Amino acid sequence: LNRRLAEFGTTIFAEMSALAQRTGAINLGQGFPDTDGPEEIREAAVRALRDGRGNQYPPGPGVPELRQAVADHQRRFHGLTYDPDTEVLVTAGATEAIAATLLALLEPGDEVIALEPYYDSYAAGVAMAGGRRVPVTLRPHEGRFRLDLDELRAAVTPRTRLILLNTPHNPTGTVLTRDELAAIAELACERDLLVVTDEVYEHLVFDGEHLPLAGFGDRFPGLRDRVVTISSAGKTFSYTGWKVGWVTAAPALVSAVRSAKQYLTYVSAGPFQYAVAEALALPDAYFTDLRADLRHKRDILAEGLRTAGFEVYQPAGTYFITTDVAPLGEKDAYDFCRALPERCGVVAVPNSVFYDNPDAARTHVRFAFCKRAEVLTEAATRLRTAF
Ligand code: PMP
Ligand code: GLN
Repeated sequence: LNRRLAEFGTTIFAEMSALAQRTGAINLGQGFPDTDGPEEIREAAVRALRDGRGNQYPPGPGVPELRQAVADHQRRFHGLTYDPDTEVLVTAGATEAIAATLLALLEPGDEVIALEPYYDSYAAGVAMAGGRRVPVTLRPHEGRFRLDLDELRAAVTPRTRLILLNTPHNPTGTVLTRDELAAIAELACERDLLVVTDEVYEHLVFDGEHLPLAGFGDRFPGLRDRVVTISSAGKTFSYTGWKVGWVTAAPALVSAVRSAKQYLTYVSAGPFQYAVAEALALPDAYFTDLRADLRHKRDILAEGLRTAGFEVYQPAGTYFITTDVAPLGEKDAYDFCRALPERCGVVAVPNSVFYDNPDAARTHVRFAFCKRAEVLTEAATRLRTAF
């Protein structure tokens, strides 16, 4: 393994899912639903396969039906206008979108500001592109992980090329506010930066609302040409294995990302693209029900964790809860997570792995709640009994 990747090893998700399998524990570590998404969408994939739609190489930017559906979705939910031919690119999940964007836009040595804790593929993506990551740490403040805008401004140097955002934010569950996003938009314009914004949890918001950064284009002229928005079907439709993602941005940026994507996967798998095009057009009730269902699940797990003595940072979005295990007398989240299956048959993830400076999160542990209600209730009972 080369020096760029040597520090990354096996992802925490693989490690913790293997632990869950070995021990038979309830897996609240890796974030994936234990129930598949809508039946009709699965049938749409089967139909595409059977009808021979997408069984041979689909077009590089993605099948036209999906590009149109992505553009329609951005307009319907966020009032954003994108040309499906020049401003939408289909990728192999958000993960490829992130990697291709970083590979396309960074010169070696460029600095990337990322909100810490960060999703693990950001650090590896920046490293593969030869960039340098500069963390700006979200810190608990009045029950929510908050971005310090002064710290963010201070992190910008002449070498800063882009800010890598994630809202709703994995693993903290924070949803960036209107004021925070406006400040980021202003900073990007002022300091001539690009912003890559990972919005894969855009529909999973329980308190407040998700605001796409690109929506601030009206207030900040020039912003539209600086923002690359990334999303995917995995979380919104509960088919994380399909790996259909997309990028929406101005033509020059989409074209740059496409140059990298061409040599990563060339094109993304065909039949699922047709199915996701149908999924994006589901009626509003689908999206409202998804949110209501997950809010209920959040509340079951949060209540269980609180009763067991964990400090809970109530997530406004995503399907993760970050907790502090210090009130339980624990000193190290990694040790805690390794021992948890033995202690009570539950698997979780230590947040320290999402930090450059793990001291900021020595005792923080993440639990996923995208599981059936009875599974969460059982996990809560086990945790309450053990602690
Ligand atoms: N970004 C974040 C913040 C995520 O949590 C995930 C899901 N693991 C991804 C990107 C990757 O999404 P996909 O599965 O579509 O590649
Ligand atoms: N995004 C998911 C999580 O945070 C996992 C995705 C993965 O395993 N790479 O748990």
